[in-house]
Amino acid sequence: MDYFTPEQHTFMKTVRDFFEKEVNPHVEEWENQGIFPAHQVFKRCGELGLFGITYDPKYGGSGLDYWWTAAYAEAMGGSCNCSGIPMAIMVQSDMCTPALHDFGSEELKEQFLAPSIKGEMVGAIGVTEPAAGSDVFGIQTTARRDGDHYVINGRKIFITNGTQADYVTTLVKTDKDAAHHGFTLIVVPTKTPGFSVARKLDKVGNLSSDTAELVYDDVRVPVANRIGDEGLGFIYQMRQFQKERMVAAFGAVAGARKALDATVAYLKQREAFGKPLIAKQYIQFKLAELSTQIELARQLNYHCARMIAAGEDCVRETSMAKLASCRLSREVADRGVQFHGGYGYMNEYPISRYRRDSRLGSIGGGADEVMMYIIAKLENYAA
Ligand SMILES: Cc1cc2nc3c(=O)[nH]c(=O)nc-3n(C[C@H](O)[C@H](O)[C@H](O)COP(=O)(O)OP(=O)(O)OC[C@H]3O[C@@H](n4cnc5c(N)ncnc54)[C@H](O)[C@@H]3O)c2cc1C
Repeated sequence: MDYFTPEQHTFMKTVRDFFEKEVNPHVEEWENQGIFPAHQVFKRCGELGLFGITYDPKYGGSGLDYWWTAAYAEAMGGSCNCSGIPMAIMVQSDMCTPALHDFGSEELKEQFLAPSIKGEMVGAIGVTEPAAGSDVFGIQTTARRDGDHYVINGRKIFITNGTQADYVTTLVKTDKDAAHHGFTLIVVPTKTPGFSVARKLDKVGNLSSDTAELVYDDVRVPVANRIGDEGLGFIYQMRQFQKERMVAAFGAVAGARKALDATVAYLKQREAFGKPLIAKQYIQFKLAELSTQIELARQLNYHCARMIAAGEDCVRETSMAKLASCRLSREVADRGVQFHGGYGYMNEYPISRYRRDSRLGSIGGGADEVMMYIIAKLENYAA
């Protein structure tokens, strides 16, 4: 059961049609190439209004409530034939732009947010570094003030859209002695001298999404490119992570449902011991368990959507939703491969890609253990 309005269902159909007609026919090619044409695809996403669902119409957004984001993430996760492209799109809609929208200056929003909402610019989010991922506090990229500029030095790794981005919303340290108030978010145009892509990374899954290691070598950007106040970047980024985790949760559950449906379809036509495999009660029970878990996770996600739309604090619930949804997608993927037998181990069967792609959910955007850390803290489990 969902809680979407008829208008939201119509919007979901538009999203599904877009993926089925304009993206899925190219997925094999883009997966093989290890990259998809982000500028081309993002332009169409912009035309469909996918990048500014909740954003201020002043910058080209639609000014809608969070249920529309839920509808978008669920429709996209359940219709694309790979996870890499939805992930890249979600980076733009819910990872590299939320702080810019909420705290950026008018000038900065005109320059980067408005073209991102239109899909005319490709953005990336640069938080993770070679020596600090889960421990965001441990990042070492610095920005030193020099007159009207910041001079940025450091490296970022695992950056989605990294080879194609026009800008990277970059988390830097501006004061090493100011603890959590020593971080700042800066929009770094990738054409700035000193910025370079060190390498495009060779991944296990999400193949059509390009992932890069980035180098900042005396990169000079105007102070005007700073998002909000100096020293508040850590707090802005933690808020931004909530958006990232929630769309990941919606996408994971929709992907799990799609993978389960594909497995059921396979089991209905695959015969063994004189009958279709689906006739085995053991198999039916396993499918019933997974279907129940999908519904549970889906309802938790809707609960979060309701809280977010109502403006309630839901860090606890969002962390639970990310943990449960991404773990579940791995479980469904593994069981799906098992029930496909040898065919599930073949690249030509979608379930094998889904198994590779779904593995990322429990690592990226805050690993399962980071979610458990947040939940345990909020539940007061520490001694
Ligand atoms: C395909 C891909 C795309 C990505 N895209 C982006 C992006 O666009 N921008 C960006 O900034 N980052 C991106 N990331 C980085 C991602 O967010 C990090 O990989 C993730 O946060 C984990 O950090 P780490 O890899 O440094 O692992 P580490 O922090 O070294 O952790 C390794 C493991 O240790 C365990 N662990 C961590 N903390 C704890 C704890 N407190 N208690 C117990 N166990 C713990 C977890 O199992 C974790 O997976 C991407 C990663 C991948 C793989």
